[in-house]
Amino acid sequence: MRLDVLRKSYGAVAAVDGVSFVVGPGEIVGLLGPNGAGKTTTINMVMGVLEPDSGAVSVEGETISSRRSWVLSRMNFAAGYAPLPGNLTVYQNLRVFSLLYSVPNARERIATLLGQFDLIRFRNVKCGTLSSGEQTRVSLAKALLNLPHLLLLDEPTASLDPATARHIRSVIRSYVAESRAGVLWTSHNMHEVAEVCDRVLLLSRGRILLGGNPKTLPALHGKKNLEDLFIAVALEPLSLEGVLP
Ligand code: ATP
Repeated sequence: MRLDVLRKSYGAVAAVDGVSFVVGPGEIVGLLGPNGAGKTTTINMVMGVLEPDSGAVSVEGETISSRRSWVLSRMNFAAGYAPLPGNLTVYQNLRVFSLLYSVPNARERIATLLGQFDLIRFRNVKCGTLSSGEQTRVSLAKALLNLPHLLLLDEPTASLDPATARHIRSVIRSYVAESRAGVLWTSHNMHEVAEVCDRVLLLSRGRILLGGNPKTLPALHGKKNLEDLFIAVALEPLSLEGVLP
């Protein structure tokens, strides 16, 4: 997946201000930044939910503007803040989305995902009655239904307890290792990001200020860990502006 100089403004606010990066096959890229930095706006443009003012998104060489349905069929999305319809059961939701994505052998695929995300006991429970962590797991199961080549995860573990969050990270990592899918992952949990991401991008006020390996990047900028680096970017973005890329 490739973003080329993507821009989106809301009035005078440049929510995304010339963002370019690549997510390679089998790569988990963390998109980090303080509240309002432009992470969700970026993801919404990748998914074609928002039209950029300028710039382009392409997946495997095809752009959303030229081959929208094909590009969208290659990706999927989950977010802590975007639960599935609450009046449908877990199974019904996964069945509806499997029809939308024309998932082959859907019953089998759904059974596998119910097991992977520990949802078998909730199969016939309406999603609206599930806890937020349980709903997040259903969203993640939905996000893997179509074996996406690009997975967009916006704060996927925000409402999960630490044990479940760890389990989810390992399910996603296994999926990436098997499928060679690329993942764009946003999170405010720097411990999680350092553990799961191959590369991170630090966004502030719609611009990428820094990027690199989350394990080595902090020391390169004289910081003890990713959290300290994140706070430096959040508090003083101008001092880091122009360092990369
Ligand atoms: P958070 O970590 O809080 O989820 P974020 O990095 O995802 O933040 P965005 O939601 O992308 O940030 O918002 C980027 C900027 O664009 C913010 O200043 C926000 O107020 C503004 N913004 C986003 N959507 C709209 C909208 N529909 N109308 C006006 N301004 C918007």
